[in-house]
Parts: sequence; C-alpha cells; structure tokens
Amino acid sequence: MGKHASLALLLLAGTLAHLTAQSAPPVVLVKAGRMLDPRTGNVLAPVAVLIEGDKIKEVGTPAQVHAFAGAKTINLGNATLLPGLIDSHTHLLLDVIVPPEAEIRRHSNGEFAPGLLLAVIESPSKRALMGAQLAREDLESGITTVRNLGHSGIDGDTQLRDAINAGGLVGPRILASGRKLITRGEYIQNLNPALGDAILQQEFLPIEGPDQARQSVRQNELENVDVIKVSANESLTVGELAAVVEEAHRHHLKVAVHAIETASIQTAIDAGSDSIEHGNLVTDEQLAQMRQKGVFFDLTPTFYGGFFLKITEPSIVIPVGMHSDEADSAARHNQRYTQLVQRVLKSGVRFAAGSDMCWFYPGKTRGQASVSRFPPLHEAGMQSLDVIRAITTNAAAMLGWQDRIGSVEPGKFADLVAVSGDPLADITELERVRFVMKGGVLVRNDFAAH
Ligand SMILES: [Zn+2]
Repeated sequence: MGKHASLALLLLAGTLAHLTAQSAPPVVLVKAGRMLDPRTGNVLAPVAVLIEGDKIKEVGTPAQVHAFAGAKTINLGNATLLPGLIDSHTHLLLDVIVPPEAEIRRHSNGEFAPGLLLAVIESPSKRALMGAQLAREDLESGITTVRNLGHSGIDGDTQLRDAINAGGLVGPRILASGRKLITRGEYIQNLNPALGDAILQQEFLPIEGPDQARQSVRQNELENVDVIKVSANESLTVGELAAVVEEAHRHHLKVAVHAIETASIQTAIDAGSDSIEHGNLVTDEQLAQMRQKGVFFDLTPTFYGGFFLKITEPSIVIPVGMHSDEADSAARHNQRYTQLVQRVLKSGVRFAAGSDMCWFYPGKTRGQASVSRFPPLHEAGMQSLDVIRAITTNAAAMLGWQDRIGSVEPGKFADLVAVSGDPLADITELERVRFVMKGGVLVRNDFAAH
C-alpha cells in the first residue's frame, strides 16, 4: 500500500470516527444523594444513573457505574431521585371553570356539564393549544407519563401525543384513548334534538348494541388510540361492554371503564374490563372478584380534602351559612373516601391512582393541581410507599408499559424526577418536584448551581 493510499485511509477512518461520534447518542450521568426504588422500597445512597440516549444504561453507587469520558454529569447533591410520575387518569384537553352557584343549582350535573359543552363547541384549535399548555405543565411538575381518558374532541389527544413524540412540543408520554364510548344520555343532557347528535359526535362514540360497540372501537382504532375508555352506567349491558372488550383486545388495546355505581362496577367486572376507574361504590365481594380476575382499581381522589371548595371559592359569593354546609359535606366525602381506600388496600386488589384532573384551579398550574391529588391517599390511610407505587410501578403495570416506565432500571426510558427531602417521611414532597428528566432530556433542574 502506497503512502497516499494509507493517508487516504487514515483520512477516511478519521471521517468515519467523526461521523460515529456525531451520531452516537448523548451520554448523561445523573448523581444524587439517594434514590428510592418503589419496587422494593429500598433506598440506594448515594446513587448514579448512567443514561445513553433516551434509555437508562446502568444504575448503582457512583463507584459501580461506569462513567466514561465525554459523559455530561448532572449532580443533584442530597436530593432524592425517583422514577418519573405516572398520572393514569387525566384530561389534558378539558379545563372546566366551575360556574357560579346559581348555574350549578340549575342542572343535575351543573358543576361539570356546562364547561364540557363549552369545550366541545368552542374552537378545536383553541382547545388543542390549551392541551399543549396543560401537557407541558404536567411534565414540569414531574408527571412524565399520562393516560388521557377522553374529553379531547375527535383526535385532540392522539395528535398531542404525536406532536410531543415528534419532538415539536414539550409534554409527557401520552397514552391516548380518543373518544370515550358512551350510552345515550350520559354527560350532556337536554341538547336541542336538531343539533344534539352532531355535538355529541365531536366528543363521544355511541354504544347501542354490541355491533355498534365494536364499530366504535374500530373507529378509535383508525385514530390510532392506545387504550379504549368506556363510561358504564345502568343502561350499558354486559353484552355491549363484552363486545367492546373483545374488539379492543383483538387490537391489543386495554379497556378502562368509568364505573361509580355498584351495578356499573359489576357490568365492568363481568365484561372483562382491564381497569375500573373511580369505583366509589364497590362492594367487598366485587373487590374480591377484581382481585381474582386481575382487574386494576384506579383510585381517583380528586375531591379529597375539600378540593371542590378550593376551586370554587374565588368565583362565588357564598351566602351566610352555606360555606359551613359545604365544609361538612367535604368532611363526609373524606370519610367515605378514606373507607374506600382502606377497603381497597385490605382486599389485595391491584391498584393505581389518577388525578382525574379536568378542573381549572386558580393559582395552580395543571401539573401542580394534578400532583396535589396524590398525597390525599396517604391521609386516607395508605402508606407513603404505596402512594408512590400507585403512580409509578403499579400504574406502569396497569398501562401495560411495565417494560418501559415506572422504575429506574437498565433498558427503561430515562424518566426521572427528584425532590429535596424524603418522600417516605413527607409524601407532600411529591408536590415539590425540583428536577425532571424525560427520555434523557432535561426538562427542569432547580438544583443547578446558582
Ligand atoms: Zn375522568
């Protein structure tokens, strides 16, 4: 080989090395004082997490982890590292402003339905832009994955998911349900019959008989949804819901069923649903059936701790005496919810938790409002570790994403959050997430040196 040829080869090798260096995924080393592993409850201190591209490569003590030259290091000092949080029941394209008291009293579902109707008939562009904002706010508070269960218009949530995945928007990973499947007469009543169906089609898909139930699943399949959401009430039959489940499972989609009353919960269990959302009036016998069949219970402590008072107070002039009535009913609600949480825990049923956030909360971002809904589970008697599991490992299993998210281990997405204190000693630390990383990309770091 002549001199010129070897020089050319050297140049070529250099160019190739340069190209390789440019296309190699970035390597980041995150160090922190402690890391809580929700799978075991163990705390690793200190900890280092090596990230390559969007995945976790190694986890261990700083001495164990192979930091190599060129890795960018993020040192979080004494902070506690956790897996990114998962909100398994939310509504990013709905932000209901609670109407004045007089309006609430005018309708049976007055605190919710007028806001929902407005969201459906307002500009879809406006709604989509709002969804993008609320998604970013969720992520900034540490929610790195959400399951969005309806109230998004026809394709608001699937399009938001795709825009985030394409890198054009900042937001959590989204499992989108598309339109919610409902029976006639749910959610929005008393519409003008000449316009009603056209309005409802913007938000829902109908279930009237098993054939139409299957068709509605296929319609959502066309929109490339990740999960099917159904609302069950007393008029939904087991046959209809079983048709939904069969069709969804054929497409490898799980079925999440909104069910509050005892009868609807039974329909959801008998039809083979994958998760029951809310489940307020579940019986012990039903909890045993759910445990036996492996159905997840998705707790939504949305109104715990007088939440409704907090979102309504600033907008209402409250007549003398009424405020204490509402405070009483909030106390009764807390008591009932505490009993529910304790029965769920005792039953051994698999559980996760979702904020069910769809409310405008003055003074809080959507992310702050959403994460404020998880510490109440601890007030209702759940151990802090189980609260954290409900929004990490357990939620990942319910979503069917246990191989991608929910814990900090090699091969999973590098979705990490960090708080200053010890979340096992003070679960409200979850409301003060100060570091967020999603897929190896830094979203927020309040620990950075000042
Ligand atoms: Zn909901």
